[in-house]
Amino acid sequence: GCSEKGGETPDTGEGNGTTSGETAAGGEEKVVIGISLGTSKEERWQREIKMFQDYAVEKGVEVVIQSAEDEAQKQMSQAENLISQGVDVLIVQALDSEAAGSIVASAHEADIPVIAYDRLVRNGDLDYYVTFDSVKVGEVQAQFVVEQAPKGNYIWLKGGPEDFNAHLVYEGHKNILQPYIDRGDINIVLEQWCRGWDPKEALMHTENGLTLANNDVQAVIASNDGTAGGAIQALTAQGLAGKVPIAGQDADIAAAQRIVEGTQTGTVYKPLQMLNSAAMEVAIALANGKDPATELDASLGRWIQLDNGTKMVDSFSVDVVAVDKDNIVDVLIKSGFHKLEDVYRNVP
Ligand code: BGC
Repeated sequence: GCSEKGGETPDTGEGNGTTSGETAAGGEEKVVIGISLGTSKEERWQREIKMFQDYAVEKGVEVVIQSAEDEAQKQMSQAENLISQGVDVLIVQALDSEAAGSIVASAHEADIPVIAYDRLVRNGDLDYYVTFDSVKVGEVQAQFVVEQAPKGNYIWLKGGPEDFNAHLVYEGHKNILQPYIDRGDINIVLEQWCRGWDPKEALMHTENGLTLANNDVQAVIASNDGTAGGAIQALTAQGLAGKVPIAGQDADIAAAQRIVEGTQTGTVYKPLQMLNSAAMEVAIALANGKDPATELDASLGRWIQLDNGTKMVDSFSVDVVAVDKDNIVDVLIKSGFHKLEDVYRNVP
């Protein structure tokens, strides 16, 4: 519990502008964690919202979650609102990695530490970052694809340029693809960002790439399952789905279904529960004035230092797993992430 605070903060209701008289058992002031999400449109974020809530109930803390639904300006005002409510700690999943630096500055004026969640906050005195390795994600995606198409015409779809993760994923793609490109084995027909990781942009860019190459395309590089889905829609319309390798990330249920149906080569499973618990553990440690480095369950991942443009940030990295049709049952179903009947719903 929050025995650190025991006694010194009786719930008199006067507080210091914090939440209105929320008390934990024993009359201590309950820890309040503000969570600002830039987007929640992908399936993973919906699951993570639930995980934040469940974890809070389990640990007897309170979470206040706001999602800006893909509007960067709205995220700024929602974060300001959480700060003025006097949350103890702020967890931020930034819509715009660069712009979110100002959230850190405002939070610090109010003595509120900030943890970046999944997406790095650039250019600010960020306190902590809890993440997966997005460069590794990109490498896994490209590896899946080059194994099946070591030569040929490629369409290259990058994620949302406003999200620093999209740049890291791209770096991972390049780590694998560049030697093939330099040798002249791989020819890039079209390379495009998909703003907001929007599947509709991925669909449109893939259509354009297919048109440019007269459908003579051997592979598509995508950056997540949502955009892979858009690209596969375009491939399907030309009778190319299942013939052109493509991989995503997140292990969305729709992607898992496409993998067993044969229209998507692979995905990257990110153990969301581990990321989520790690972020909550860091937040609760900070709220109780403890050191996250010693509080955090080390089996969840490992501590690394990452440069956010301003400083080296204490970061906690959780491992990812490559998934294709050969290990999908072991990785996604045995872990309880998806149900067998859901994954194989469309397969006779
Ligand atoms: C996340 C991905 C996600 C994408 C779109 C990235 O920052 O790391 O898991 O698919 O955003 O929300």
